[in-house]
Amino acid sequence: MPGDDTTAQRLRLLQAEFTQHVRTGPGDGRSATKTEAPAPIDLGVVDRIRAAVYEVEAHTRAAAPDAGRFTGDAVEVYDWAREHTADLDEGRQQAREAVIYRQGLEYAIAMGDESVVRKHPCPECGCWGLYWRAASNRAVCVNHYCVDDDGLANKWKLARLAQEHVARKESSARRAT
Ligand SMILES: [Zn+2]
Repeated sequence: MPGDDTTAQRLRLLQAEFTQHVRTGPGDGRSATKTEAPAPIDLGVVDRIRAAVYEVEAHTRAAAPDAGRFTGDAVEVYDWAREHTADLDEGRQQAREAVIYRQGLEYAIAMGDESVVRKHPCPECGCWGLYWRAASNRAVCVNHYCVDDDGLANKWKLARLAQEHVARKESSARRAT
C-alpha cells in the first residue's frame, strides 16, 4: 500500500511551530493577547507528539514483535512503522494507515486547521457537512435529519473518519488496478 506522508509533513510543521521556538518575553503564551513573537515551546504539543509516536511504536510492535524499539526522530516513526509491517496482511496494513492518517488529522486540528474534517463524508448520511466541535473532540454532522437515538446530531471520532477514509482509498485503489 503506498504510504501517504501527509502525516509526517504535518508533524514537521507542528514541531516547527510549537516545539522549537523559545520566546524570551514575559507570559506563558496562553494569554489572550496575540503577539507576533514566535510561539513558545508548548509542552502540551510536546506531550501530544510523544504520545503519538509511542502509539505508532506500540501498534507496530503488537503487529510485528520483531520491530524492536523505535529510536529515531518523531517524524520518522511512520516510515519505520511501514517498513516493519510491510509484509503483514492487508487488514493490518489498513489498521496501521488508519492510525497514521488519524494522527495527521489530529496534527492539523492542533495547528488550528479544523477544515480537515470537512473532507470526509458523514459516515451515517454521506453528506459533506461535518464540522469540528473541540469541546466534544468530535466531528459533528450538520444535517438536521442525521441524528442519534436521542435526537442529537451524529458525531464522530477522528478514528472513525480515518478508518473509513483508509478503507475507501483502498477499495478505489483496488478498482483502479
Ligand atoms: Zn450525517
